[in-house]
Order: sequence, then structure tokens, then C-alpha cells
Amino acid sequence: MIAGKKDIRALSKEELRQFFESIGEKPFRGNQVYEWLWAKGVHSFEDMTNVSLEVRQQLEEKFTINHIQVDTLQKSKDGTIKNAVRLHDGLVVESVLIPTKKRTTACVSSQVGCSLDCKFCATARLKRMRNLNPDEIYDQVVAIHRESLLYHDRPLSNIVFMGMGEPLMNYKNVLESIDKITADEGLGMSPKRITLSTSGVPKMIMKLADDGVKFKLAVSLHSAIQETREQIMPFAKSFTLVDLRESLEYWFAKTKSRITYEYVVWKGINDGDVDIDALVKFCKYVPCKVNLIEYNPIDDGEFQQAGNDRIQRYIERLDAHKIPVTVRRSRGKDIDAACGQLANKH
Ligand code: SAH
Repeated sequence: MIAGKKDIRALSKEELRQFFESIGEKPFRGNQVYEWLWAKGVHSFEDMTNVSLEVRQQLEEKFTINHIQVDTLQKSKDGTIKNAVRLHDGLVVESVLIPTKKRTTACVSSQVGCSLDCKFCATARLKRMRNLNPDEIYDQVVAIHRESLLYHDRPLSNIVFMGMGEPLMNYKNVLESIDKITADEGLGMSPKRITLSTSGVPKMIMKLADDGVKFKLAVSLHSAIQETREQIMPFAKSFTLVDLRESLEYWFAKTKSRITYEYVVWKGINDGDVDIDALVKFCKYVPCKVNLIEYNPIDDGEFQQAGNDRIQRYIERLDAHKIPVTVRRSRGKDIDAACGQLANKH
């Protein structure tokens, strides 16, 4: 970025229209430029061919167009692709393309590093942290959409905010990026195909409900016992299960949208019958489903995936209480692209 110039993609459409008015041009020029910047995704003012040369030069003098750059692209045996994405200030985040039979899902990052401290997650160990801007999140989606067309011959179908970072700690920018992803002038994707995953920030979950969002919500629960949850996710001391539960009840009352609980079962940590009982009880508060995630080891063995018999026990008990449960197998493990493995190792 050149010092003194502002990133034009930080402006809303309305602000762009006002800018054109201020230089004596018709406001609709703002709409045209907005479309070039978002739907068409150009990287230079030169490419805006229906804008006069004079105006393009004026834009050039005042603004820059920041774009992410995919530094490296790694492909897994199972078709998963991981992008290391360089931001305009040199920092790097990762995003992942996950193909299945029916879907292509983009897993995107919302922060460089993470504000939270889950002990089982590699991203939590990265020190450097800043929030991503809306355009940096949007660009990750566009990059994966293009890769999906290129390598899998089909468009992107779903987006999950399950990459690096806690999306609700970057609330405004994440919501702005989703606005752009769903807008006709953006990617025109249905919000129903987007899932925001949070470690559980109660106040922000209530704000989502108040803001009337239309995308889906997933919560990384991992334990329905306060003491256990605090041990593995220390921030849970401030964001307690009681508050979490209340915020989820509020969310459901307002949105009528079922919640997904993400849950890893670890040996000796949350694989006992008391843990299962607590989860079953927690699941009764709000309509939900449980997604049992396979653990992706990140180091020393403090955390180990529980035995299959314990996973089966979880499934049986949830089934018996008519709580939908799915087991999610890891994807892209060989390239460190699976849940909790994103740590800019490359
Ligand atoms: N901060 C958000 C989104 C990022 S994490 C959240 O916590 O939901 C995406 C998912 O991966 C979360 O459910 C997280 O708990 C899970 N996860 C983290 N580390 C993991 C690991 N080592 N193995 C399996 N899942 C992990």
C-alpha cells in the first residue's frame, strides 16, 4: 500500500456515491465502481473500462485497491486445498477448500491468529493478532470459488467461518463480509449456505439475533460441564455455560434457526458418562444437532481422541434422546488443513 492513499474497498456503496458527488460527477458512477470492485473483483483502476480516463486517474491519485494474494496452495490426497493468503501488510492467514460429493465448502479465517485460548487448537498459539477487514474475508471466498471452478469444475456451494480466529470477536467486519458475499453485487450466495462458528461469546450471539441475521450458527461446545470447559477453553471463565445457554435460547426465540454444537471427545477429559449426560441435558434447552469432530492432534499428547467405544456411547445416548448427531471425519490432515491445525506452518 502506498502511504496516504486509502483502500477504496473500505468505502461503502453510499460513501462511493458521495465521493463522486464531491468531485462533481454523477453519484451512479459510485455504483459502477462498486460493481467493478466487488462483483467483478478487478485489481486496478485501469480495468474499469466504462469509467472515463480522467476519473480513473483521479481515483488512482486518491485510492489504492488492496487485494489478498494466495502465496502457496497445497493439495491434499483427498482433494482438500489449503491456501496461505498474504494480506497487504505481509501477514498471512489460511483458508481451505473442502470438496465432498455434493458440496464444495470454503473454510475462511476471520482473524490473524485468535483472540481466544482453546488449549487444543493450533491457531490459539499464534501470537500476532489483528482482525481481518471485510474485503480480506471476501477475497478468501472469491479465491476458493475460483479454485473450485478450476480444480473441481463446479462453483462454491457453502462457506463456514471455521478458519483462523473467533468471528464474533471481529463482529462488524465479519457481518460486512457476509453482506458482500450475499449481495447481488457481490457473490449472490444465499445466507442459508453460510455457517458462522463461534467458541461461544454470549453477548455477541444475542447481537446476531437482534441484527436478524439469516445465516446458520454453530457453537464449539466440547463440554457441557462448566469446570471441564474452563480447563480446555480458559476464556469460558468469563463466558460461562449459563450465559451461553441464555444467549442460545434468545437466538432461537428470535431466529427459529437450529444450532449445531461442535464437539470433540477426548480421552480422560470428556469421554465419561457424566459428560454425556451433561451434553444431553444441554441439548434440551434449544433445538440443535451435534457434530462430533475427529480430533486432529497438534502436539504433545495432552489431548488424545477418545476410543471408538466412547464415541459410540455418545451417539447411542444422543440417538436415544432424539438429538440428531453426525460424525465429521477430518479432511486435509496431510497438509495441516484440518480443524484446529491452521497455524501458518508453511
Ligand atoms: N473460533 C471459532 C472458529 C474456529 S475453530 C470456533 O471456535 O468455533 C473451528 C472448529 O475447530 C471449532 O469447532 C474448534 O473447536 C475446532 N478445533 C480446534 N482445534 C481442533 C483440533 N485440534 N481438532 C479438531 N477440532 C478442532
